[in-house]
Amino acid sequence: MRAAVVTEPLKVEIKEQPMPAVKDDEVLVEVLYAGICGSDSTLYRGAHPFRKPPIIPGHEISGRIAALGRHVSGYEIGQRVVVNHTIPCDECRYCRAGLPNVCPTKIYAGSDRMMGFFAQYVCPPARCFWLRMGLRTKTPLWQSRCPLPSM
Ligand SMILES: [Zn+2]
Ligand SMILES: [Zn+2]
Repeated sequence: MRAAVVTEPLKVEIKEQPMPAVKDDEVLVEVLYAGICGSDSTLYRGAHPFRKPPIIPGHEISGRIAALGRHVSGYEIGQRVVVNHTIPCDECRYCRAGLPNVCPTKIYAGSDRMMGFFAQYVCPPARCFWLRMGLRTKTPLWQSRCPLPSM
């Protein structure tokens, strides 16, 4: 599959990447649309505090489910989804208080701990998904009414 890689500040290359392997709790998503966030442009300029090239940026996408991990239920192949781009720990006091967006150890897409979403396929955990029936794939994530404190 192809992905956009910021190889160094101010340089983006389309590169072949290995197809992500779907773990048991993950969903393979074919990315249909990806927005460019302010943090992506900061990364591109080499000025982001923790997203540093070389890296696949991008974290605001809509897509279609292409495969399901063995332990994933409640979703179907072909469903259109938007994806929350952070994985909170679910255990700290912020997560337990319903504020996963301020979890101090959350994992971000487009960082050294999780591949970014400017790729043909991505593989986030199923708990990061939000289905929106009737969602148009071009609907910006911030308009999709995701019930997340960070959105
Ligand atoms: Zn963003
Ligand atoms: Zn947490």
